[in-house]
Amino acid sequence: MMRLLLVDDDELDRMAVVRVLQNPKLVKDIVHASTAVSALKLYEENHFDIVLLDYRLPDMDCLDVLSQLTQHTEKQAAVVILTGMEDNETIERNCIFAGAQDFLLKKELSERHLTKALVHAQARHALNNKLIETHKRLKYLAENDPMTGLSNRYYFEEHLRNALQRAHRLHVQLGLIYLDIDNFKLVNDSLGHDSGDHLLKQVAQRLQEVVREGDIVCRLGGDEFAIIVHDLENETLIGALSQRVIEKIREPFTLNQTEQFITCSIGIATFPRCATTAEDMLKRADLAMYHAKREGRNGFHFFSEVLQEQIIHRMMLENELRSHRLQNQLVQYYQPVINAKDFTVCGAEMLMRWQHPTQGLLPPAAFIDAVEELGFFAAIDSRNWKLACLQFAHWRQIGLIDATCVLAVNASAQWLQHEHLWTEVEHDLREIDLPGPCLSLEVTESVLVSDFDTAARRLDHLKQVGVKVALDDFGIGYSSMTYLKHLPASILKVDRSFVQNVPEKEADCRLLKAMIVMAKSLDLEVIVEGIETLAQAQLCSALGADKLQGFLFAKPLSPEAFEAFLATHNPADYLPPADT
Ligand code: GH3
Ligand code: MG
Repeated sequence: MMRLLLVDDDELDRMAVVRVLQNPKLVKDIVHASTAVSALKLYEENHFDIVLLDYRLPDMDCLDVLSQLTQHTEKQAAVVILTGMEDNETIERNCIFAGAQDFLLKKELSERHLTKALVHAQARHALNNKLIETHKRLKYLAENDPMTGLSNRYYFEEHLRNALQRAHRLHVQLGLIYLDIDNFKLVNDSLGHDSGDHLLKQVAQRLQEVVREGDIVCRLGGDEFAIIVHDLENETLIGALSQRVIEKIREPFTLNQTEQFITCSIGIATFPRCATTAEDMLKRADLAMYHAKREGRNGFHFFSEVLQEQIIHRMMLENELRSHRLQNQLVQYYQPVINAKDFTVCGAEMLMRWQHPTQGLLPPAAFIDAVEELGFFAAIDSRNWKLACLQFAHWRQIGLIDATCVLAVNASAQWLQHEHLWTEVEHDLREIDLPGPCLSLEVTESVLVSDFDTAARRLDHLKQVGVKVALDDFGIGYSSMTYLKHLPASILKVDRSFVQNVPEKEADCRLLKAMIVMAKSLDLEVIVEGIETLAQAQLCSALGADKLQGFLFAKPLSPEAFEAFLATHNPADYLPPADT
């Protein structure tokens, strides 16, 4: 049984309706309204199943009334329009589009007609509601991440687009925080996928707790989340919010009844400074996040053009490094090592250069970090080492250098981790016919810190083949002395910083002297690097250093230039004047 709201300013017309609706099985209650305003008030305060609405009301346009009626989505009334007009096709269509279920001519009112219209309208309305419900559910599913209940990527993009349009219109700033959990795979791997899911849910919850009302938190996928910050007053605020987020995520999580600590990395892009489209905002915040990861994670980073350039440069570099061409573009340069007693050439240090097809000759500093991160060092070192040995053996054979000359090669951590390093080196030396003592492997403290024990074991093996071990950059690290104690080193390379201010500064001279005395008392051969002046060379010589290396003699040289250097080097140029 229906409750009906009958809206008509003409009382006679209302009575006509009441008369034809005599069927007590259909309508339980009819409430009358003679104006649109009173009808809307009644509708708001009561429940009706059907509204019979006159098209012509004195106080409001019918379409406006319809629009207000249909705004009450929680109310379930079907609406049937009554009209006295004949020519009604356009009006009828407008009313149906505005939410009415049916349209009746007053002159056609009969019990049968009206009853049928009401029943059909109600059925149509119920169907409509079902469709709306289904649509709402589908929309929810399409826009939400079922696991965390946050908006998903689809909704995020839609919302970001709208938010950007609004920000553009109102001339306000908008911020985007792009967050990725650090080392999330470890949680999955160590505690299981379910714990991973549980963590993601807790992260979602914490993010919602930390943002302002109105800011939107979304899960973009995997362990990536985004926060859209509306009406951003200045960039400092989004930095502060990011810091709050980082701290909130750093608080312990309970997973599998144990406390777990995680961190996250954040990239920030703002409108209009960083980007103006949703796509660019997302890309740039992602780029900044990538940078935050590279900087050591557990932090946030703003996007900037400079950053973009750096990252693009880095990505291009990585692509080039990954390409097989790289190996052929790496070339070996040699810096002469000079005997500190008589200033003759007594060896060379091989230093790698990248003969870049467009950028020219690049020093290791331009590409070494990327090589290390990509894990290419072991392969590169093996190849460079072998080529340098071949070159050195050739110079020995043709008598350009004498049999006591030593070739020094830098060893990377990755190369030293190489399980078969020892056997490979031994095999190469035999094949090339170069005695072990003609070679020294230079290791720095940074190379040793990652896995000291393995590195020490490998160096021990190499010593058995006769290869010398040199401690490079000695004196600038934290634990140089410890390494000296535990490594089979026979050479110590004093870092260039120890000769920079000699002989001018007395204290530096004393320090250099102490260093050389200490090394000599441990039976170590001393090579001083970074010699740039004749005074430095002669002082080191007088203090008892064994060998010298530096720009005073030569920079790292191509093989051809090294040969030319050998031909022109005159030890007498460096000897102190003989006492008269
Ligand atoms: P990084 O610090 O570089 O971000 O390392 P990460 O270990 O966090 O790795 P990354 O962000 O690249 O990968 C996220 C991982 O999250 C990949 C996938 O195995 C896992 N993952 C993606 N979706 C889900 C999910 O719904 N539940 C769980 N438990 N794991 C997921
Ligand atoms: Mg991650």
